[in-house]
Amino acid sequence: MRYIEKTEPPDEFVEFCKTPDVCFESLSGEPKRALKTRLLEDQGYICCYCGCRIADDEHTKIEHIKCQDRYSALSLDFYNMLASCDGGELDRNFKVRPRHKCHCDAKKENEDIPVSPLDSGIEGLLTYFDDGTVKGTGAGEKLVQTLGLNVDYLVSRRKNIISEYIDNEPEDLEAELRWLKSMHDGKFEEFCFVLEQYVSLLIENHKELAAAL
Ligand SMILES: [Zn+2]
Repeated sequence: MRYIEKTEPPDEFVEFCKTPDVCFESLSGEPKRALKTRLLEDQGYICCYCGCRIADDEHTKIEHIKCQDRYSALSLDFYNMLASCDGGELDRNFKVRPRHKCHCDAKKENEDIPVSPLDSGIEGLLTYFDDGTVKGTGAGEKLVQTLGLNVDYLVSRRKNIISEYIDNEPEDLEAELRWLKSMHDGKFEEFCFVLEQYVSLLIENHKELAAAL
């Protein structure tokens, strides 16, 4: 999970919110489109929770960190909204992947999460391993469970992406880390934070090795 620095809500959405008696259900058309695009831009087009690639399409959901059912006053709060993948829900509904276990927005539903990608310390609460699994520390543990971050699909995707790195270790690790931490054409790499952890670990190991020689 990557820490998300949100910018400002788009003008179309701000104007919509000034209309009396509006709610999230009545959000549509240009204000909704502009909002979704802004959320995607702020996140570099990766899912707020799992980090898979998301686009401006029907597979991307507008996620409320604090659910609409219990926190209706926050249903139009830009700082309570993130862009999430659909957690495989659409594919499951259309029987493309019928046994797919849901994750992210689809798994969370109306549950509360103790921390979110808007908390600056979020990245230190989750540790990713070479076998593709993720382990949470403290509040991170609840995140892993509530968001289904260890479902087979995500474990397998992360394992593959780390394996590629293990097979082709970059020559300049510091440059690689800088590259992973930046957006390219407005996008982060898929699962960039997983790779960031891996490359940071490699850098540490190399330093320790050099110091021991
Ligand atoms: Zn996701």
